[in-house]
Amino acid sequence: PQLANQIAAGEVVERPASVVKELLENSIDAKADSIHIEIDQGGHKRILIRDTGSGISKDQLELALSRHATSKIYNLDDLECITSMGFRGEALASISSVSRLSLTSHPEAQSEAWQAQTQGMDMAVTLSPAAHPIGTSIEVLDLFFNTPARRKFLRAQKTEFQHIEQVVRRIALGHPNIAFTLKHNGKLIFKWGAGTLEQRVAAVCSPNFLTYSTRIDYRHEQISLSGWCSCIGQGWQTNDQQYIFVNQRMIKDKLVLHALRQAYEGMLADNQYPGYVLFLNLPAQDMDINVHPAKHEVRFHQARKVHDVIFQAVSQALLLAQA
Ligand code: ADP
Ligand code: MG
Repeated sequence: PQLANQIAAGEVVERPASVVKELLENSIDAKADSIHIEIDQGGHKRILIRDTGSGISKDQLELALSRHATSKIYNLDDLECITSMGFRGEALASISSVSRLSLTSHPEAQSEAWQAQTQGMDMAVTLSPAAHPIGTSIEVLDLFFNTPARRKFLRAQKTEFQHIEQVVRRIALGHPNIAFTLKHNGKLIFKWGAGTLEQRVAAVCSPNFLTYSTRIDYRHEQISLSGWCSCIGQGWQTNDQQYIFVNQRMIKDKLVLHALRQAYEGMLADNQYPGYVLFLNLPAQDMDINVHPAKHEVRFHQARKVHDVIFQAVSQALLLAQA
């Protein structure tokens, strides 16, 4: 099973940022209202995520680290209607197979915290009592220490950290009700309290973004698109801001990007580029997110309709902004 875990790790865990993404999704699934992230050396050395979620009981700790152990799907029907972030039950097993991992958790119903530790190839899990507030911490040390080929592909600390920061920003944007802190090498990078979506967008994208964007609030039957879109680069500047969420999940889907590109066609001056934060919502059973382990892509059962909704909503808003 260890080899299988390491192979699966190749799909799920490309780099430190993918570890961070999986762990954050677990914290969100556990209904954490606050998530604290500490990174050392771009994540090569250490990734720590501490949450205030529901926790894992002592007798479930070992199971949580084993392959295809998920507490989120009970039968095949659930696969048709996924609402949680994780569902494959392979992230923790994969990550623990290529790092030294410790999982410490304190569920409310348990009087004390327990910690499970694993060390790559030697999958023996050791359990010991620990001190921890209600919630869970996962510490991932020495990522890829036992898979040198993979370790060689790690980029400079700075680059890997940029990827991590991007992941945290995206996830934070999709969950304004959760507080986030991010530290790198002991230095505070940001601290965002829980708040409204507007507050979070201003924090993540810059307060200017809201000022210079057009609000979108569009609905067609069961499909809705809301958020902001703008043309960056004429009179105001900000970093690249292109975020699209489908049912709160950040995605990079070809169909969605195509619809956006079409809507922006002819709307941008030479020195402009698109900026958007968009939330597409549709019934979970109208799409399939189980396409790729990294979950960037979705399959819409009514692809044409989704495409049209995005195109209509965004092109209308952009026209309005130019009028
Ligand atoms: P999945 O998220 O697909 O179920 P994972 O390997 O990511 O699989 O996690 C395995 C299981 O461990 C989850 O189903 C969940 O029960 C538990 N778990 C992982 N992280 C946390 C967390 N931060 N808080 C509570 N439970 C967690
Ligand atoms: Mg998961």
